[in-house]
Amino acid sequence: MPRNSLYSLRFFRNFAFVFLAVLAARSASASPVRPIDIQRAGRGLSTRGYLAAGQPVAGDPYLPQSWHLQASRVFDAWNVTRGDRRVVLAFVDSGIDYHNPDIAPNLWRNFREIPGDHVDNDRNGFIDDIIGWNFVNGKWGVGVPDPLDRAGHGTFISGIAAAAEGNGIGGAGVCPNCSIMTLRFLNHDGLGDTEDAILGIRYAVHNGASVLNLSFAGEGYDKDLHDALVEASARDIVVVAAAGNDGINNDKDEIYPANYIFPNMLTVAATDPRGRLWENSNWGLRHVQIAAPGTDIIGPWFKAWDTGSGTSLAAPIVAAAAGLIRSANPRLNAPQVVAILMSTVRHSIALEGKIRSAGVLDVGAAMRCAVTQGLPCIRRQF
Ligand code: CA
Ligand code: CA
Repeated sequence: MPRNSLYSLRFFRNFAFVFLAVLAARSASASPVRPIDIQRAGRGLSTRGYLAAGQPVAGDPYLPQSWHLQASRVFDAWNVTRGDRRVVLAFVDSGIDYHNPDIAPNLWRNFREIPGDHVDNDRNGFIDDIIGWNFVNGKWGVGVPDPLDRAGHGTFISGIAAAAEGNGIGGAGVCPNCSIMTLRFLNHDGLGDTEDAILGIRYAVHNGASVLNLSFAGEGYDKDLHDALVEASARDIVVVAAAGNDGINNDKDEIYPANYIFPNMLTVAATDPRGRLWENSNWGLRHVQIAAPGTDIIGPWFKAWDTGSGTSLAAPIVAAAAGLIRSANPRLNAPQVVAILMSTVRHSIALEGKIRSAGVLDVGAAMRCAVTQGLPCIRRQF
């Protein structure tokens, strides 16, 4: 692979599910999002357990299958907040299906821009940038702004983070009241140029993102990519990167952006429902900070919902968790948000010596800390 190329971290989809999902989409064009094979309800999480926990019984049909919400204690955090529209989660990825009814209500909108008038109303260098930008065919401020997802990856991860909740369709994102900003740089094959990823990051940094999700990887240190993340750090943005799906130790390899280290950044490994590292997840005591659910994660896949496994899917869970924390306590700076998430993980023996925090995301515990005077949870040893 040429040095200048990046690729989305391909997640492993359940092919039986894909087949069912396609059938559902074809047979129900009026309501493309329908429940699929309930027998497959999230491994290790029964519907009964979900209800017994006293959690809200919303109308979204896939909530009982969303084991990651329970495992990372998202429902506990929702007792405080389901997010704030002003907290913008930016996804530098393959774009987004903005027609998806579970996505559309939560898109970030650039209200300072008048759609379709061919004028850069807000003078940010981009003409008619309404929900983000497409850097695959358009460069900085030039070209067609349409970030429609041709690969599915960007929509999937955006939905895991912030799909609408309580609307009776699909599932729900971890931060369902956060806003989704879309910066497309991966093409229909999930491939993209480092240069375009950098442009996407810089757009997010300069247009109000609170959290930046990077579910892609490339080999080799790139100074310009590093510098873009320095800008994100200076603007107090939480940066979340996927660790990679090669089953390797990142401390002995050159995987970027995963291996950049900043106090406002978390690199995420993927775990299964028992808190064990997913077999293909990368790890690294120095370069991988936290783990989050990453196997059989349900999210919007084209016109249906489907499950997949991969660190690409674990990262947006952490990104959205940061969104919840920032919604509940806007006074926290990005390094504090990162420290809270690191300090409140659910410890897992299986992650000792592999992941810096040796634990799995616990948004409920993080939320309790984030709204408590003095942030009593924060440990200094990270
Ligand atoms: Ca503009
Ligand atoms: Ca929904």
